[in-house]
Amino acid sequence: MLVAVVATLFLHEILTPLEMIGGMVVGGAIGAMLARRVEMTSMPELVAAFNGFGGLASALVAGGEVARYLFSSSAAQTLSLDPLSPVTAVTIVLSVLVGMVTFSGSFVAFGKLNGLVSGNPISFLGMRLLTVLLVAGAFAAMGFVVWGTGDFPSVSEPVVWGLVALGIVALFLGILLVIPIGGADMPVVVALLNSYSGLAASATGFVLNNTALIVSGALVGASGLILTKIMCDGMNRSLLNVLLGGFGGEADTSSGGPVTKGDQQVQPTTADDVAILLTYAQKVIIVPGYGMAVAQAQHQVRELTDLLLEKGVMVKFAVHPVAGRMPGHMNVLLAEANVSYDLLFEMDEINGEFDSTDVSLVIGANDVVNPAARHDTSSPIYGMPILNVDRSQTVIILKRSMRPGYSGIENELFFAANTRMLFGDAKDSITQLVSEVKGL
Ligand code: NDP
Repeated sequence: MLVAVVATLFLHEILTPLEMIGGMVVGGAIGAMLARRVEMTSMPELVAAFNGFGGLASALVAGGEVARYLFSSSAAQTLSLDPLSPVTAVTIVLSVLVGMVTFSGSFVAFGKLNGLVSGNPISFLGMRLLTVLLVAGAFAAMGFVVWGTGDFPSVSEPVVWGLVALGIVALFLGILLVIPIGGADMPVVVALLNSYSGLAASATGFVLNNTALIVSGALVGASGLILTKIMCDGMNRSLLNVLLGGFGGEADTSSGGPVTKGDQQVQPTTADDVAILLTYAQKVIIVPGYGMAVAQAQHQVRELTDLLLEKGVMVKFAVHPVAGRMPGHMNVLLAEANVSYDLLFEMDEINGEFDSTDVSLVIGANDVVNPAARHDTSSPIYGMPILNVDRSQTVIILKRSMRPGYSGIENELFFAANTRMLFGDAKDSITQLVSEVKGL
């Protein structure tokens, strides 16, 4: 994208090299500051904001192309411009439509992720009808603009207003498309909007006749779409179900969950007991989840892994495709802590191994190990492939309380006879485990 922008600004002599460097320094500094300050767990929000700005930029560039014709002060100036072909006009309206939908949709997703907007699915009476009307309005505005730009050499003021109207309608459409989607599905929506921002950029590439922008936009569009599919597959849900499903709201985290389920009771344990279990086990599988990211416990997890390996315990990591809040979340954290890739296994590779595992250490993971997904047809996560930790001899769960995970539902695994709960912040608990294991 940067190469495309710099090449365009340079070849068309739009900015001097000094101005370009100035812009890059200011923009680069803001980006670097944002990226350094953002918590790993807030990464999807940052991606959402970047997508939003990408969409807005595409819409503004495409709109600016039309404005050039309006604002050229003399007829001679206008005539020096290339005529706006119908194809260019169509790509302009597409850029504005997709760009503005991406902009507003991304910022609603941003708000839902950081709690500014309710994570619950929002709907109101007549919402579907309003959406249909807005779609119809968008098509009307697009038709009007494409038809109006045919009057070359002049582009009349109403055409520009038509484009502005299209932008406003698209803004509302973006909001209406994202508010009915539940908070748990926001990362999928962010991936989809990422794809949209690429499509908007690609359309703008056609407007500017800029091959680099077309190609880079198409790459973003395609990879965003592939990512969306991977996430949907990881949750065993169709994209349509995500967009219409209203899955997962804000969990009530004010109180912990219940500690009994029928005659089953949660069994708490202590770090010294877990340390003994781990040290004398033959095989341990570690399952990281969102809580490991919150606690930033990955370095302590590596330390514990090294200690156990030194003691001759076989240690493996089971990484669920949607553990955490974005694809690859766990891989990134474990790589940051230098956990060897050879120890990391994807769900399909490792799921058959839990039967022969002495201890499964579940670190801040919840939904991705909930056995209800396998058999409880009434569960909202029914059908989602999970890690079969419940089949190992002992399951140790590290979390702070009985609060549910992102989907907001109770986890029956916590009440199972072979499960022990090690309550506390994951970083503190693992630090304790490390010192206990060292002493054995
Ligand atoms: P969950 O959100 O199910 O559970 C995380 C658990 O971590 C919570 O139960 C919480 O319990 C615990 N926790 C939080 N902070 C800490 C801490 N400091 N120390 C110890 N524990 C902590 O996470 P999973 O990774 O199991 O599942 C991911 C969820 O996100 C799934 O529902 C998935 O569908 C969804 N999702 C993921 C996407 C992705 O791309 N990765 C995309 C879309 C959705 P407590 O508060 O008691 O500590």
